[in-house]
Amino acid sequence: MYRQLLFSYIYVNATCLLKCLLLLRRLCTSCVPSVFCTEWCDQARGRIMMKFADLIDENAEELAALDTIDAGKLFSLGKSPDIALSSGILRYYAGAADKIHGETLKMSGELQAYTLREPIGVVGHIIPWNFPSSIFFMNVSPALASGCTMVVKPAEQTPLSALYYAHLAKQAGIPNGVLNVITGFGPTAGAAIASHMDIDKVSFTGSTEVGRLVMQAAATSNLKHISLELGGKSPLIIFDDADVDKAADLALVDKTQYDRILSYIEHGKREGATLLTGGKPWGEKGYYIEPTIFTDVKDSMLIARDEIFGPVMSLMKTIDEAITSANATRYGLAAGILTNNLNVANTVSRSIRAGIIWINCYFAIDGDCPFGGYKMSGFGRNLGMDALDKYLQVKSVVTPIYNSPW
Ligand code: ADP
Repeated sequence: MYRQLLFSYIYVNATCLLKCLLLLRRLCTSCVPSVFCTEWCDQARGRIMMKFADLIDENAEELAALDTIDAGKLFSLGKSPDIALSSGILRYYAGAADKIHGETLKMSGELQAYTLREPIGVVGHIIPWNFPSSIFFMNVSPALASGCTMVVKPAEQTPLSALYYAHLAKQAGIPNGVLNVITGFGPTAGAAIASHMDIDKVSFTGSTEVGRLVMQAAATSNLKHISLELGGKSPLIIFDDADVDKAADLALVDKTQYDRILSYIEHGKREGATLLTGGKPWGEKGYYIEPTIFTDVKDSMLIARDEIFGPVMSLMKTIDEAITSANATRYGLAAGILTNNLNVANTVSRSIRAGIIWINCYFAIDGDCPFGGYKMSGFGRNLGMDALDKYLQVKSVVTPIYNSPW
């Protein structure tokens, strides 16, 4: 039954996407204010987005079921945090829709100027499979609030909830053509978005390898704006004063991950790190691994460079060593610090080159807190007011203060 959604709620398919992009550009609010000032003006957008968020909450069970079918994730985890976070993000940006404004500028001479913050135009969103709902709304919500029109391509593994969101968007009152979902594979549908001459911006979330391809396609087509949220190697630094139970909770977990962790431990040993303790499976049932600590870890080793997602730690003697090691990666998405020492928490959080630092917590994400990477984890921020900037551009309007002589 759910598969039927694939056919019933597709607003545009990949072929007609390419034909309808000019129409999408005309729908951007600043382009045709006279047509949309009542139906889709700033205030109306905010109200409609609020209604959209209510519809998501009303359909949360259905939506979580779709993500469970597609991504195989636990129903309970799909419903909360993923779906609950989605409607929360939408409400956050609904409140911002009528608060986007420019500045008045003092120019030299007898001139004055003001700036307009206009929607960037037609946006392409390319979404991965791991959080099909919340990443959809991290992208779509600020773009809607900014007055952009958009084409969203969910991951080929997880298209169902995105199609259902398109259906709910229509029910909420979003005008036809503003929010379009196309399904398809990356090298075809995704690549068509990245290289299309009538798309003004691409917001991509996914792997670093594909992010590079998207950036190349943007550069060789129309130099469209892009933002990339890519992979990470997010260190969790546990200081000796930390709460050990909390640390154990935050640090993993299935058979695939279990095999992966054991293979990293083998790599560590082969590359010359000293195994201080652990390193073996623990118990007869389940996928447990002994808490494992290495010393003599060099930044060039795989266990220092890759994200392990398991109870495998490297022992550092000083704070400087920990900071150097945390920064010795090409990525910079996130980092966690567990300590009760405020000086240590402040010093380390300011020294690590990553887009978000969690102190005594991990993977805490909310609508108002910007999220995105440093270095090869990408650029541009999702969430928070900063994300609106991705979908707006600034126009300066200059005029003489007194009557112009011309
Ligand atoms: P992950 O490893 O998280 O699945 P991917 O980077 O492979 O991340 O995929 C993320 C999104 O990028 C998916 O929607 C996928 O279809 C899309 N994608 C994959 N290849 C390309 C490509 N060449 N151009 C544009 N999008 C692509």
